[in-house]
Amino acid sequence: MKTINAAAISLTLLGGAPAFAESSVISPNGSRPNVSGAPQNFTGAVVVQPLSGANDHIPASAGHVTFAPGARSAWHTHPAGQVLIVTDGVGWVQEEGGAKREIKPGDVVWCPPGIKHWHGATATIGMRHIAITGTVGGKNVDWMEHVTDEQYSAR
Ligand code: MN
Repeated sequence: MKTINAAAISLTLLGGAPAFAESSVISPNGSRPNVSGAPQNFTGAVVVQPLSGANDHIPASAGHVTFAPGARSAWHTHPAGQVLIVTDGVGWVQEEGGAKREIKPGDVVWCPPGIKHWHGATATIGMRHIAITGTVGGKNVDWMEHVTDEQYSAR
């Protein structure tokens, strides 16, 4: 312990440069065009506002996703999992074999790696969530079949 402290002090006295020399980057609101959810991966009107991409330090991307009433993702899995932070409206999330669960603003959902699930708005109220999705080898999602109207409206 004493040795580490002494080394840290001597580095400070020598004016040692920090290990990370990158500068802060501000990505201004309005500089990242919205993207429509691709029809093969979503049902209904879905708009994604990109927030940040994966990088070597934080291998996860983030986006703010808006689902119109009735809109939802297709079934899918994430190789490194996903965190959903609900910011507006009322939504549903369901994993395969489980019940449909209601999510509201302030709720935070953890979707573990490899677990098949979907998320979206309720039938009558739209929903927005921030999605933070881990990336493995440049990939963050494996898309599957659409959520049928029967599955979506089931309890
Ligand atoms: Mn997901």
